[in-house]
Amino acid sequence: MNKLKDTLNRFLQGRYGMDQLGQALFVVYLAFFVLNLVTRSSIFYTLGLIVVIFFLYRCLSRNFEARQKENNYYMDQYNKAARFFRLQKRKWQDRNTHVYRKCPYCHTTIRLPKVKGKHITNCPKCHKDFEVKV
Ligand SMILES: [Zn+2]
Repeated sequence: MNKLKDTLNRFLQGRYGMDQLGQALFVVYLAFFVLNLVTRSSIFYTLGLIVVIFFLYRCLSRNFEARQKENNYYMDQYNKAARFFRLQKRKWQDRNTHVYRKCPYCHTTIRLPKVKGKHITNCPKCHKDFEVKV
């Protein structure tokens, strides 16, 4: 039993292993697995197989630089999506008291009190004035 453990340890040494993209791929694989169980569709089986092969390829890879680049790209996209949904949640929570507008110069989203009419506002980031219609 120890010999098998040593062999496995030697095989896994220097391999990339798990990261956030790996965890996401595994969740996607589980989703396809469950969909396959429910629908008995070969499409979900094939998609799950592709995802799990990519997952294993990444975990067992020795090319750390390429895997970290993939993970960084994934994390950038993930954070962009998370920021978008956080903003949507805040917009919904503040819908009666505030409005959200983009600065036409630096494209920063600004939270403004909901007062009807046209106003001149100053962007806190680029400090330029612009007109806002509420
Ligand atoms: Zn601005």
